[in-house]
Amino acid sequence: MKKYLKKFVEARVRNMVAGLFLPAVLLMLCVFCGGCSKQPQEYRSVDTVMGTIFRQQIFVTESNEATENITGEITACVRALETDHLSRRIDGTEIFHVNALAGQKQKISGELFHILEQCETVKAASGGAFDVSIGTLVSLWDIDAWAKEQEGFVPPQEDAIATCLEVMEAESLWLQDGMVCVPEGMQLDLGAVGKGAALDRVKLFLEENPRVSGAVISAGGSILTYGSKPDGSHWKVAIVDPFDSAQTIGILTLDGQWCVSTSGDYERYVEAEGERYHHILDPHSGRPADSHIKSVTILAKDGLLSDALSTACFVLGVEKGMKLAEYFQVEVLFVNEAGELFMTEGMQQYFRKL
Ligand code: AMP
Ligand code: MG
Repeated sequence: MKKYLKKFVEARVRNMVAGLFLPAVLLMLCVFCGGCSKQPQEYRSVDTVMGTIFRQQIFVTESNEATENITGEITACVRALETDHLSRRIDGTEIFHVNALAGQKQKISGELFHILEQCETVKAASGGAFDVSIGTLVSLWDIDAWAKEQEGFVPPQEDAIATCLEVMEAESLWLQDGMVCVPEGMQLDLGAVGKGAALDRVKLFLEENPRVSGAVISAGGSILTYGSKPDGSHWKVAIVDPFDSAQTIGILTLDGQWCVSTSGDYERYVEAEGERYHHILDPHSGRPADSHIKSVTILAKDGLLSDALSTACFVLGVEKGMKLAEYFQVEVLFVNEAGELFMTEGMQQYFRKL
């Protein structure tokens, strides 16, 4: 009995020591490891690219000399997309040449070919509500020159609009074997997808940099979230109130990589004789889209798709826009002229109204 009691006491003491010792060792390990693992370094920058504000917040683990200029490299990469490929106003870009040599087949870069292919897919699926061969109409409305508080704007004549529409209805873009041909009288304008395409470029850049643990990048109305925050919390993306662009109507709570694009009538507009004209044109009427929408937000994995679809859904309105979003398996949120919100079921799990 005594022997048994001794064993029992020894076992209790052993258990107590283990009970005290183990947690202490674990605590020391945690403190030690916590001391070793450095918090990611944060880099921030604000630039003007593609005629809009370009904001970056990037988290880098094990920062070194190579990562010091990471925001500068990303800005340069996006600027090059604009100045080498997409801008139709900069002499020397691919699009500038394609437009200048309308009527002729031209070899283009793989990147531009891929962008145009995706645009043509969205054009077909949207019944032509989205159409990057809208360049002559954009010029006719002089959208690029619109400025706040602009006076003396005169909307284009009906017959001039009709001439643009005739070409757009009769002709279409030819795209094959790495070549493009814009019919004469037609011009390409990639204003509706430039920022989304930029986010896709940034996404590729980040994927090739394993030191980047997380990032949030915004180019105007398009935002990319990537990886995770150092504290493990979710990314929060504010959705602008289209009735007062200094305010937000709600927040998207996102985990990992997403692209969010918003198209709204508040982004670019001009007023004349009590009438307000915004920058999203209906390619069937040749006039600013009259779909009773104030803004559309798309949530997708792909930048170009989210940007193209926000423009397309704005033109289509709630009913047809919802169908288009479902077709591409993306989430959409509409705000109509009455301030009502409509969204896909999937969007409800990310969006919180404020
Ligand atoms: P977003 O702000 O992304 O909706 O793009 C609007 C810009 O795309 C305009 O400033 C025009 O340059 C161009 N655009 C306007 N309407 C359309 C349309 N229906 N399809 C394609 N591009 C358009
Ligand atoms: Mg767009």
